[in-house]
Amino acid sequence: MSGARDLHEWTAAQVWCALTAAMRTDPRALDRLAEAASGSLDPHSAFFLQHARTLTLATSAALTGVLTIHRYGRHPDDRPVCAACGIGRCRTVRGVSDVLAAYRLRESGAWTLWPACDTDTLTSRYHEYRRGML
Ligand SMILES: [Zn+2]
Repeated sequence: MSGARDLHEWTAAQVWCALTAAMRTDPRALDRLAEAASGSLDPHSAFFLQHARTLTLATSAALTGVLTIHRYGRHPDDRPVCAACGIGRCRTVRGVSDVLAAYRLRESGAWTLWPACDTDTLTSRYHEYRRGML
């Protein structure tokens, strides 16, 4: 498997983790929390608390769509290439991965905190994680 394909899998897994975390959240609990904390939250924070689940679901679903379009397939010469871009190292996947890394999105399985690293370092750490070295 190629490093680019691995990066795509890692990125899609991170987006899926955000999506599933939002899906598991009880929206009524967030509403109750926002209501209970209404006296101590500024209007922007209260609004975010009430809408964070929906925002996360929408953003994650949109990113899933992007990653579905920018998935890897086989070039006629048998090397992996992005189905949308036609190149081996999709800049869209790399860009999404870099943003997720910058915000240190957590993986829900082991709740591993991924540090903010460049994509090559993340790819290397992802390989270590898959081998059970992290
Ligand atoms: Zn692409």
